[in-house]
Amino acid sequence: MTEMIKVSGLAKHFGPIRAVDGISFAVARGEVLGFLGPNGAGKSTTMKMITGFLEPTGGSAEVCGFDVGRQPIEVKRRIGYLPEGAPAYGDMTPLGFLGFCADVRGLKGADRKAKIEAAIDRTTLGGVLYQPIDTLSKGFKRRVGLAQALLHDPEVLVLDEPTDGLDPNQKHEVRTLIGSMAKDKAIIISTHILEEVDALCSRAVVIAGGQIVADGTPAELEARSRLHNAVTVRL
Ligand code: ATP
Repeated sequence: MTEMIKVSGLAKHFGPIRAVDGISFAVARGEVLGFLGPNGAGKSTTMKMITGFLEPTGGSAEVCGFDVGRQPIEVKRRIGYLPEGAPAYGDMTPLGFLGFCADVRGLKGADRKAKIEAAIDRTTLGGVLYQPIDTLSKGFKRRVGLAQALLHDPEVLVLDEPTDGLDPNQKHEVRTLIGSMAKDKAIIISTHILEEVDALCSRAVVIAGGQIVADGTPAELEARSRLHNAVTVRL
């Protein structure tokens, strides 16, 4: 197995709050890993450490064999990140925003143009390129975020609650899009919903209170959850 994301003993404490408390897992190429947990479990904090936006208190994260803390430039080249919520810069158009992101990534000339066009095609943003992001539906806003994450054709995608707040049709569209990208990448998506893991993921880890409490295939996790419910009801 080629490990594209490797997290070892990763921890983040905010004063007395143990947001992430020593977790370890790996994601291979071709795998979509679900990162499942309730509100406040530590999902976003973990994702921010994998992408280099937050420095861990302990442990380490590697992306494509590069250490996130020590080799941030190598990591940023290989990783695409969809943060939680709508993209910033809502007064920009999708085209302006993607152009800005391309500049931040140092893309130039024909390569810049080709990569922007490919991201627009992939996320079917062609019809809304010139409308301010703030005026778009939640589904289109999420696609703008995904286009930004895909722009430099990264090998690893970290997607924080990619379908949160979307209606059922929009959820389906975004899941289909993520599924279509899975073949040659390693993807981690955070979610509250077991059904989402079922629809998209080959495997999931469950985090609660900053610690991993279960992992397995969606079917294994569902069986465990049914067993847990049955035992709890009997008690
Ligand atoms: P959600 O599904 O609601 O986004 P989450 O699983 O992503 O939740 P995190 O946002 O990672 O959870 O938060 C984990 C814990 O760390 C929570 O108790 C949160 O309040 C706390 N926390 C997160 N960021 C900070 C911060 N900057 N300072 C202090 N505490 C924080």
